[in-house]
Amino acid sequence: MKTSCTPEANGKAARPAEGASSPSYLALHARGELSARVDRAREMLHHCCLCPRECGVDRLAGELGYCRAGADPVVASWNAHPWEEPPISGTRGSGTIFFTHCTGRCLFCQNYPISQLGVGNQVNAAQLAEMMLELQARGCHNINWVSPTHYVPQILAALMLAIPQGFHLPLVYNTSGYDSVETIRLLDSVMDIYLPDAKYADDAIALRLSGFRGYVAANRSALREMYAQVGDELALDADGLAVRGMIIRHMVLPEGLSGTHEVLHWIAGQLSPRIHLSLMAQYFPAHKAVGDPVLGRRINHEEYIEALEAFDSAQIECGWRQEYGECDE
Ligand code: SF4
Repeated sequence: MKTSCTPEANGKAARPAEGASSPSYLALHARGELSARVDRAREMLHHCCLCPRECGVDRLAGELGYCRAGADPVVASWNAHPWEEPPISGTRGSGTIFFTHCTGRCLFCQNYPISQLGVGNQVNAAQLAEMMLELQARGCHNINWVSPTHYVPQILAALMLAIPQGFHLPLVYNTSGYDSVETIRLLDSVMDIYLPDAKYADDAIALRLSGFRGYVAANRSALREMYAQVGDELALDADGLAVRGMIIRHMVLPEGLSGTHEVLHWIAGQLSPRIHLSLMAQYFPAHKAVGDPVLGRRINHEEYIEALEAFDSAQIECGWRQEYGECDE
């Protein structure tokens, strides 16, 4: 994903963290609690309820639910990624591990061969841990789990294996925001930075465009839980890199389909205007959106101006606004 971000217009940048500490999962591991989380998460695979879809399938017995994810993780790619928000990518890149399969089916998904057609390689927890350690050795600032919801148990198992081998980077949970509260609770003091989407304000639109059932309530419950865990301050280290907090992404869709005004006002009013918001103008038609009478075009300038006005009228204080037209290449 290309995000060329600029500091939010009012100039209120996040403050450096005072005495930014090491990732909290290290303490959790030292107390023996991470092991218990691994067990609880794995148990959820017997009757899968990792996301709000609650398929109830036994993934450990080989059954597959809506997302088609099985017992072992499937990874599409893993690399240093330079195009996330500045405190995530820094100068050496964010260590993205991009999972195959998805809990949604966006008509416009830019990565549909990975998310919907299953492109990727099956690995085990030990191999996932090796990827984490190699990205750390390459100088990445964090490990960025992309589309992680359906593989939370496997992520926790890999973390258990990586820590004794010296793994110590912050963890970023980069999600569509269609997460169950129970799953997010398993990640309390494990994930350092939540990077969720807030995609829609209308359930019918979310279902039609992305296949998400009950997206709005599920998304808002998940965001509330993330906020309860990390609050609204994006803590930075001395180099300006995020070490703890939350950044919510919202991509503007054509014809008001993303409900931008309502989404941004809900975040500011029900969570906090100090939560970092990443407003994205990069939509382009891909997959089934190509040729669609509504989704088959980029957003126009007027639509993005409306989104910027929503950002301002919601009085969101912190974040980034992608510049319109920056991705027209
Ligand atoms: S993670 Fe996959 S199998 Fe589990 S509830 Fe969600 S869609 Fe169904």
